[in-house]
Amino acid sequence: MSANGEADLPIIIAGAGIGGLTAALFLRDRGHQVVLLDKANVLSEVGAGLQLSPNACAVLDRLGLLQELEPHANAPDNLRIWSGTSGRQLATVRMGSFLKMRHGYPFWQIHRADLQRVLLDKARATPGISIKLACEVMDLTSTPYGNLTCIYQDADMTGNLACKALIGADGVWSRVRRLVPGHENARFSGQVAYRTTVPIDAVPRRWTTDPGLWLHRDSHLVHYPVKGGRHLNIVALAEENWQDERWSTRADREALLHLFRNWPAEIRNLLGSSDEWLKWALCSVKASGPWSHGHVALLGDAAHAMLPYMAQGAAMAIEDAAILARHLPVDVENVPAALRAFEFHRKARVTHVQKVSFDNARTYHYSGALALARDTVLRLSKPTSLATRFDDIYGWTPEQ
Ligand SMILES: Cc1cc2nc3c(=O)[nH]c(=O)nc-3n(C[C@H](O)[C@H](O)[C@H](O)COP(=O)(O)OP(=O)(O)OC[C@H]3O[C@@H](n4cnc5c(N)ncnc54)[C@H](O)[C@@H]3O)c2cc1C
Repeated sequence: MSANGEADLPIIIAGAGIGGLTAALFLRDRGHQVVLLDKANVLSEVGAGLQLSPNACAVLDRLGLLQELEPHANAPDNLRIWSGTSGRQLATVRMGSFLKMRHGYPFWQIHRADLQRVLLDKARATPGISIKLACEVMDLTSTPYGNLTCIYQDADMTGNLACKALIGADGVWSRVRRLVPGHENARFSGQVAYRTTVPIDAVPRRWTTDPGLWLHRDSHLVHYPVKGGRHLNIVALAEENWQDERWSTRADREALLHLFRNWPAEIRNLLGSSDEWLKWALCSVKASGPWSHGHVALLGDAAHAMLPYMAQGAAMAIEDAAILARHLPVDVENVPAALRAFEFHRKARVTHVQKVSFDNARTYHYSGALALARDTVLRLSKPTSLATRFDDIYGWTPEQ
């Protein structure tokens, strides 16, 4: 224990999303007391599908969670890439057993709610982690003697909790980020994701075999099974000037069909198969900005929200959690130095992954000659060479 008794104080995590819950489990493993505060009244089942690539599975394996997640996951053998203009297939990407053999961990498609529930159940069952909902983290203050207090707001009052560090895992619209001088603000990309899941029996079999990625000018579409194959997850991304901070804004199917009016009829029929669409404004936070200051550090979307064109946002939050805990042994002497080391350790990788996401955002939405060139390259590519293009991202393990 350090001179001021810091070892007895908890680490407070703002946000019990995927990053916050994973961090709580890793920090508890290191021996810390952990308090998770989330401003939501309930941790509801929002969102839709998530791709959990081998690098994310490698981290979840260190928490012993793969067995619990497996019944909820799908591990497709192939991804098929299609032209949203002609309706023709452009390429096949090998996944399934090929990626598992290559990286040692599966590539899963899962519902976000299933992942969050498995993490939450484990956190609730772990002594030393306490979770308080309806508590919004507002600030961190310190006395001249260096004692830290996290200020939070619940329904009735402003409360405070002594702590040894505050971790901002509070998502793209992070409030904790304001405590890091020189921080980047979230920037709207001009693109919006429409998301839904439909029972697998409600759509023709054509959609339920291999997952698909469809490319079109200024828009694209992704579909894959979730909930252990019982539902189909559909994400339609397009350019639209609309912004909102929530995950769960209801979207209008007619507006979506209007955006996809130039797409093949079979895709428009698929979009028409659900009237329960949610809408999410795609924003990013530059990973190169600062993520730590004194006893505060950011992780996940709070530090480096990225566009979902590499399907790595949650994976990066999960990786951050493992590496943060690595830098914070329970008897850590110098918390600010440990948090700086965490930031230093993670920055190059996350900045790289964010750049790949931005690059994909451009190529997915090409039109004209650029789209023709992209489609030709895809047609000439082998399924295995497309699968190995992201070895550096998928092959990462926490021990590297
Ligand atoms: C369309 C789309 C598809 C995606 N697909 C994938 C994918 O396939 N694979 C992948 O890896 N990633 C994907 N992502 C990205 C992924 O969803 C996010 O990167 C991930 O959810 C970030 O997790 P987080 O824990 O950092 O933040 P969040 O999940 O946003 O959690 C933040 C939590 O903090 C709470 N909170 C906010 N402010 C406060 C406060 N002041 N005090 C206390 N609590 C607070 C919120 O209530 C919330 O519970 C996708 C994103 C989108 C939009």
